[in-house]
Amino acid sequence: MTAASTATASASAVYAPVEPPERLLMGPGPSNPHPAVLRAAAAPVLGHLDPAYLAILGETADMLRQVFGTSNALTLAVPGTGFSGMEASLCNLLEPDDTFLVGAAGFFGAKMAEIGARCGANVTTVAGEWGQPISADALRSAARELGQVKAIAIVLAETSTGVRQPLAEIAALAHEIGALLVVDAVTALGGMPILVDELGLDAVYSCTQKCLGALPGLAPITLSARAVQAIEARKQPVQSWYLDLLALQRYWNPPHAYHHTSNVSLVYALHTALRLTLAEGLDARYARHALNGTALQAGAAAIGMLPLAGPEHQLPMVAALRVPDGVSDVVGLRRALLEEDGIEIGGGLGDYASKVWRVGIMGYNAERRNILRLLSAFERLLPRFGHTLTAGAGVAAAENVYAGQSAGA
Ligand SMILES: *Cc1c(COP(=O)(O)O)cnc(C)c1O
Repeated sequence: MTAASTATASASAVYAPVEPPERLLMGPGPSNPHPAVLRAAAAPVLGHLDPAYLAILGETADMLRQVFGTSNALTLAVPGTGFSGMEASLCNLLEPDDTFLVGAAGFFGAKMAEIGARCGANVTTVAGEWGQPISADALRSAARELGQVKAIAIVLAETSTGVRQPLAEIAALAHEIGALLVVDAVTALGGMPILVDELGLDAVYSCTQKCLGALPGLAPITLSARAVQAIEARKQPVQSWYLDLLALQRYWNPPHAYHHTSNVSLVYALHTALRLTLAEGLDARYARHALNGTALQAGAAAIGMLPLAGPEHQLPMVAALRVPDGVSDVVGLRRALLEEDGIEIGGGLGDYASKVWRVGIMGYNAERRNILRLLSAFERLLPRFGHTLTAGAGVAAAENVYAGQSAGA
């Protein structure tokens, strides 16, 4: 009786419509989607077996292949965010007692090891220093000691540190020892080349809400023929029925067998983001991320915020910027940016929680106007939070990068 009357009372409360404040999302994800992506998500919902919808699904897979750089038949998007792609890759490829080698120099690499262990695999982690990539030699010696390795996993764009992981040598090692190579491209996809076929990567997954600039809720994934064969050769079925990739493949492609209801509206959004990506041109899009990433890094350095990653390993689309001298209230500055300027950036993870801020320059947001807006806001707020700087130096350094670009063009 009491429970029922409580329920009645709350049901009669009046709630205001959802009206989120306007934000510029310059953290490590999500990024602001292109307005056309938001409009596409509002299009009428279709049934997941409607031929009109299956055509959209097929085009989405085709466009994903282009952005991944692959002709892999098994290329689709699983429901859930980036971690769903991580979970799907690992739970399909790994069986209990498989040997799984992970290179981890950041938060996300460590998560691959954790999920691998939950799949029952025997996990060995080669841990690297945060701010550095994993050395292929360290993986090679670990693999030599282990003997038979089922899979190696590595993060291409480590969002906790801003480090770009070179893949070629690790791919060569995986091929040499007959191991599958699983690559986390959650932050990378749409902002830099992935080269799945050229490098011979076996399982690569991503998300939709970072450099692709679509809505959160899907995880694009692609599997090589070798990876598909490994799943087909499993001794036991994939533990997750929902994320069983071979079953999902039978829905995305003929015979289009029902598996679960497709996230129709999110697929519209993804289709639109991919279409815009290809219309821009992949090389132009990667160059746009690189230019704006360089401008942000130059501007930040000029006002005392140096990246955690060395310049030779710095990613274009995310930078972990060291909190400058004199600033102790790292959360307070982030809150002021959000409340006064409407700009979201990220905090640090793990040991770097109070040592870095993470800035993302992703997808639709990778534009000069946004970089200058963020740098101006930093220049206004940093002195208030205890860091002395030369006013205007950050914006000027960024402008220099843009000027050099147009002079060269
Ligand atoms: C963001 C991110 C993830 C997790 O993605 P979600 O969409 O938050 O689930 C995994 N790996 C990397 C490298 C990421 O940057």
